[in-house]
Amino acid sequence: MAKNALITGITGQDGGHLAKLLHEKGYKVFGIIRGQHNPRRQITEAEFPYVTIIEADLTDQSSLIRAMEVSKPDEVYNLAAVSHVGYSFKNPQLTVDVTGKGVLNMLEAIRLSGGEKSVRFYQASTSEMFGGLDYNRPGKGYDEDSLFHPRSPYGVAKLYGHWITKNYRESYDMHASCGILFNHEGERRGLEFVTRKISNAVARIKLGKQDYIELGSLDPKRDWGYAGDYVEGMWRILQQDKPDDYVLATGETHTIGEFLDLAFKEIGIDDWKPYVKQNPAFMRPAEVDILLGNPTKAEKVLGWKRQVDFPGLVKMMVDHDLKLES
Ligand code: NAP
Repeated sequence: MAKNALITGITGQDGGHLAKLLHEKGYKVFGIIRGQHNPRRQITEAEFPYVTIIEADLTDQSSLIRAMEVSKPDEVYNLAAVSHVGYSFKNPQLTVDVTGKGVLNMLEAIRLSGGEKSVRFYQASTSEMFGGLDYNRPGKGYDEDSLFHPRSPYGVAKLYGHWITKNYRESYDMHASCGILFNHEGERRGLEFVTRKISNAVARIKLGKQDYIELGSLDPKRDWGYAGDYVEGMWRILQQDKPDDYVLATGETHTIGEFLDLAFKEIGIDDWKPYVKQNPAFMRPAEVDILLGNPTKAEKVLGWKRQVDFPGLVKMMVDHDLKLES
C-alpha cells in the first residue's frame, strides 16, 4: 500500500525537493500552503501536479488537525518556518510563533487526531542552534552531542522546536526525530539567501542586467551542501525503527568570499572585488562566524553521504541562473 506523507513548507526549497523524492518513491504527497493569495501556490501546483494542496497555517492548530484528517499521513515532515536568520531579527515574535510554537502545534495536531503511535514525525532542526561558538568541539565540527548556543531569534525558536520534538518522543513514545541540517542550497533556494543572491547576481552581471551585488560580511564560514542530497537524509531518518536525531552536513566549511571566488570564475572573472559592495544594512546584530558539521553518525547509521561537493554546488547554481536570466 502506498504511504501518505504530509509536508509543511511545500512551497519552500526543501519542500519541492522532498515532494519529488517521495512521489518517486510511490508516496501520496500532501502539502500545506498558507495564505489566501499565496503566489507560490500556482507555481507549486504547476510543478508538482501530484501534490494534494491543503490550506493551513502552522500558527492555526485547528487547520493542522484538519490537515491530519484530510491527509491521514504515515509520515509528517515539518519543514515550514520563518527560515531566514536576518528576517528573524526584524520579526522575532512571528519567528517564535511559526518556527518555535508552530512545531508544538503540529505535534499536538498529530496527537489530538489520534496519530501519536502511528505517525512518524520529522522536525527540520538547524545548525544555527549551535551558534558558531566552537568552544566545545574545536576543529571536529558539531555533532549530535555538541552544546547549543543559538545567536538569532531563528536559532532560539528552532531550539524550542528541537526540544519539544524530543520531549514528545520521550513523553508520548512518538516516532519523532530531528534532522540537524547544516546549510543546503541549490537551484530552488530563495533569492533572499546569500548563496542564491550571489549566483543570481553573477548570472545577471554576466548578461549585463546588473552592475554589482550588495552583501554583508564576507567572512562567515558555512558548511554548504546540496538540498537534493539532504531531503534523501530526511527520508532515511524516518525509515529507522527508532526515532533519533542526526546531523546532516558535508564536513567542510567555506567563507562567503570563497563562494564568490568560484561563482565569478564560472563567468570568467577572477577579481570580483569591483562587483561586490559591502552594505552595513546586511550585517546582523549577532553573527555566527563558523559552522562546521560532523555527519559521522548519519553516515554510519543511515548510510547517508552528500553527493554534490562545494565547487559542484556553486557551478550548478550559477548555470541554473544563467539559463533562468537569459
Ligand atoms: P524555505 O525555503 O524558507 O521554506 C519555508 C516554508 O515555510 C515555505 O514553504 C513557507 O511558505 C512556509 N511557511 C512559512 N510560514 C508558514 C506558516 N505560518 N504556516 C505554514 N507554512 C509557513 O525553507 P527551506 O530552505 O526549504 O528549509 C526547510 C526547513 O528546514 C525550514 O524549517 C528551515 O528553517 C530548515 N532548515 C533549512 C536549512 C537550509 O539550509 N535550507 C538548514 C537547516 C534547517 P510560504 O510560501 O507561505 O512562504
